[in-house]
Amino acid sequence: MIFSSAFFFHCLVSFFQINVDQFIEILKSFKPNIAQCLCDTVPSGESCKRNRKSVDRTLKFLDELLECRKNSDMLKSIEILGSVEGGDSETERVRCAVETSKREVAGFVVEGIEPSSQNWEELLKTCIKNLPSDRPRFFPGPMTPDHIFSALECGIDVFDSSFAYEATRRGCSLNLQCSSKRCKPELNHTNDVTEKCKATQSKELEENISENIKKTRFEMNIANIRYKEDFSSLVIGCSCYSCTNHTRAYIYHLLETKEMLAEVLLMIHNFHQYFSFFKKLREALNNDTYETFKQDFLRT
Ligand SMILES: [Zn+2]
Repeated sequence: MIFSSAFFFHCLVSFFQINVDQFIEILKSFKPNIAQCLCDTVPSGESCKRNRKSVDRTLKFLDELLECRKNSDMLKSIEILGSVEGGDSETERVRCAVETSKREVAGFVVEGIEPSSQNWEELLKTCIKNLPSDRPRFFPGPMTPDHIFSALECGIDVFDSSFAYEATRRGCSLNLQCSSKRCKPELNHTNDVTEKCKATQSKELEENISENIKKTRFEMNIANIRYKEDFSSLVIGCSCYSCTNHTRAYIYHLLETKEMLAEVLLMIHNFHQYFSFFKKLREALNNDTYETFKQDFLRT
């Protein structure tokens, strides 16, 4: 069967298009337990017409996918998550959430809301208010712990781990212990990037860097020369493989010589820190100590 819905994607080298048939072929090859329906994400600031179109196209793709799923036992074994789109239009967000809820989906992914944008929490709450609470609500994308607290309070249930991945790509080590055990601001890389920004005077770099600065409260830039002869672990007291076997100086050396092992060790540590943060968060929610945990964690 040939369907009309298709979305364009861009990867590192080019653009490509995926229609429903091709998406189903991908699902059949990978056989995941769960898959998010493809969607048309629009950035904030787009016209009402464009926001409406994003919802129409997203729902159409979902309907065609679910129609095809009815006739395939293999596809029936894959749970489908519906995507909630609509740009920054509250009307379209509500329409998409309500319409997606009517479909046979296992959960919802709220797409296209940047935690750095204005009124993101209000928009997120609008989506959540119109989604049933008996199915999980996902909020994908890299988020600092303070954004995670906010999204959680809006009603989000599930997050991904792309923040840990992005920190690793920046050559950074996460420290997500409570505030008293975190490095002081002068030891993280806020100063490094600010200096780099002043030196280059590039507008584009300035914008990228100002975004990064927001994330650096929980990071140390291990590629900084100050760690060349620092023989302590990435985070003192961390029980991960990288911290119990290697030093900041060794990982600095690996980053300096562009050894792939640098990212492997940083990734092990960053995942450990990120997953430990979520473990403590779940415990705080279960023990009714969420507010204390949050205040203690965010204290500067
Ligand atoms: Zn560690």
